[in-house]
Amino acid sequence: MRPEILFPLSAPVTSLKGVGPRFGKLFEKLGIEKAVDLLWHRPTGIIDRRFQPKIAEAPDGMIATLTVTVEAHQKPSNPRQPYRIRCHDETGVMFLVFFRVQGDYLEKLLPVGTLRIVSGKVEHYNDVVQITHPDHIFAAEAGETMRLIEPVYGLTAGLGLRIVQRAVEAALSRAPVLPEWLDPAYCAREKFPTWREAIATVHAPESADDLSPMTLARQRLAFDELLANQLALSLMREHVKRIAGRVITAPGALRRKVIQSLPFSLTLSQSAAIEEILADMAKPARMMRLLQGDVGSGKTVVALAAMLDVVESGAQAALMAPTELLARQHYKTLSNLAANAGVEVALLTGREKGRARTAILERLASGDIGIVVGTHALFSEDVIYQDLALAVIDEQHRFGVEQRMALAEKGRGVDILVMTATPIPRTLMLTAYGDLDSSRLTEKPAGRQPIATRTLPAERVADVIAAVKRALESGAKIYWICPLVDESELIDLKAATERFEELQKIFGPRVGLVHGKMKGPERDAAMEQFAGSGIDLLVATTVVEVGVDVPEATVMVIEHAERFGLAQLHQLRGRIGRSDKPSACLLLYTSPLSATAKSRLSILRDTDDGFRIAEEDLRLRGAGEVLGTRQSGMPELRLADLAVHGELLATARDDAQLVLTRDPELATPRGQALRTLLYLFGRDEAVRYIRSG
Ligand code: ADP
Ligand code: MG
Repeated sequence: MRPEILFPLSAPVTSLKGVGPRFGKLFEKLGIEKAVDLLWHRPTGIIDRRFQPKIAEAPDGMIATLTVTVEAHQKPSNPRQPYRIRCHDETGVMFLVFFRVQGDYLEKLLPVGTLRIVSGKVEHYNDVVQITHPDHIFAAEAGETMRLIEPVYGLTAGLGLRIVQRAVEAALSRAPVLPEWLDPAYCAREKFPTWREAIATVHAPESADDLSPMTLARQRLAFDELLANQLALSLMREHVKRIAGRVITAPGALRRKVIQSLPFSLTLSQSAAIEEILADMAKPARMMRLLQGDVGSGKTVVALAAMLDVVESGAQAALMAPTELLARQHYKTLSNLAANAGVEVALLTGREKGRARTAILERLASGDIGIVVGTHALFSEDVIYQDLALAVIDEQHRFGVEQRMALAEKGRGVDILVMTATPIPRTLMLTAYGDLDSSRLTEKPAGRQPIATRTLPAERVADVIAAVKRALESGAKIYWICPLVDESELIDLKAATERFEELQKIFGPRVGLVHGKMKGPERDAAMEQFAGSGIDLLVATTVVEVGVDVPEATVMVIEHAERFGLAQLHQLRGRIGRSDKPSACLLLYTSPLSATAKSRLSILRDTDDGFRIAEEDLRLRGAGEVLGTRQSGMPELRLADLAVHGELLATARDDAQLVLTRDPELATPRGQALRTLLYLFGRDEAVRYIRSG
């Protein structure tokens, strides 16, 4: 049970003073739903108001804090004119300027003859000193309560700095003193402040240095976060280990039939991966294996081989994909391949409804269906398997650990195989999965041609269209990707739709459109026509990002490439270069490019080595580039930065393991405090897996 001491922090952000439901939605955009999320919303900068000049010395363009006497209110005769308030000190005169003033609040705030402290950006306007809409106005006596150095936070349209600051302050005032969960010796050696002190310090930076990830306060919080993460993963793993696994072996007749029917032979690393997986399944312990392979490295057949052995042994296997689109595509591929061994594959997603769904559920319960492919619908409560023995999870990083567990609990000692297309740097791998066995597909299937990648400024779109025309004439299939960025989904969608219409005007009905807001069947129809015939040029938002497989596609245009994360661009590009024909990728960017965007694009131009790209991605994101983290679906770390806190991660992992060896039930006082830590970081599920005495 969530400890009561955390209730004030786990309350929704809208319960804080000054944050109504209207702001709730906006905070959600920043990933802030609960009060505690505000604590994790670190300042990105500071505003320094310590500069306190006299009026005559206040330079244009500077943030300054001035002490002035209010002299006169100059009310506008018409409301479109500014409301000006004349003030002075012993060196000169200045004006405070306000627009759209309603009521008499200014007369109350700034009565004539009083001494006031005002802070804001100084402007020199026709030789007159003025501040438009000062950030702060205080009576001189109350001036001490003004913060001379203010934290600056990431904002979103409609959510101003003051509101975020106040919300953070309100959340901070709710932050209780919590029992210490760190090892006392470690805490002392590192000179870490307490959690309460650390969180307060992080939100009260006094200089740019205080924003560094290496301050003691920040390191402490980063360590807390990593420890919660490692502890949760270890608990999960211990739990999995305690559930007995089962031995799955089969002569492999079905598997061999399907492999022999393939139009290609397996790569060495595919064969090796299959061996490793079969060996795991044959052991009495449960399998927890990661199958890592770059896009197009051929993970699907590897998974199918394992699933066929499961079927042959008389049990069932399920493959879960992150999206409807991918589930359908896997279903098509797998059912075609499995048919060669006379094995039927079923599909179960949110879209199977009514009688069709009931029929599938019945056949899963009776064991009539051996292999099922689907989305998270696969572990809906009413789905019952006769004997689920293997769960394959594709593009796993989009699913939470909890969902993984839910699927595993649908059977007895279910073996788990996780497939991921993003090669994951070691540090990320540890935070995402803990210590997991892993198989890597290191070769591209034989005969693949490298992809020629070019970067072009957006102004040259006419040249790109000309190139597309030539490619279409020579029979190519082409993706045209438009970005979809949360912030302004509708505007982006409009961009994709407009691009589609424009291209359709030029190239006619062979142009198609898919985007996330489209209804499933409509989108499938377009994808099918692109994979088959009817559509040769597909305008798409990032719904095609993961896993979509149309080998005939050899050209990809990506608009606003600068807006995508590196890993995501790599994923997208992996949709082409899947056949023996040469492929080309054109990255269109809009200037000016930030330094990181520039390096992202040039890395992509220079290499298609997924592991190198993954390392670079981490490095660049560590430099403060967040775009890409969310989209890649990696566990979101808010306080730890793996690019600089790698050592803390290693310590956190060792610590978590030590704790669980010594105190597996988390029953000691420190153990109890660690439970609070898990709840603090929203790892409620993990607490369920604590062994009870
Ligand atoms: P991913 O690892 O991205 O999921 P897929 O499993 O979708 O890759 O495979 C990509 C494409 O490569 C598919 O069309 C598949 O049939 C093909 N493929 C898989 N293995 C080989 C191989 N050994 N040789 C040639 N083509 C292969
Ligand atoms: Mg795939």
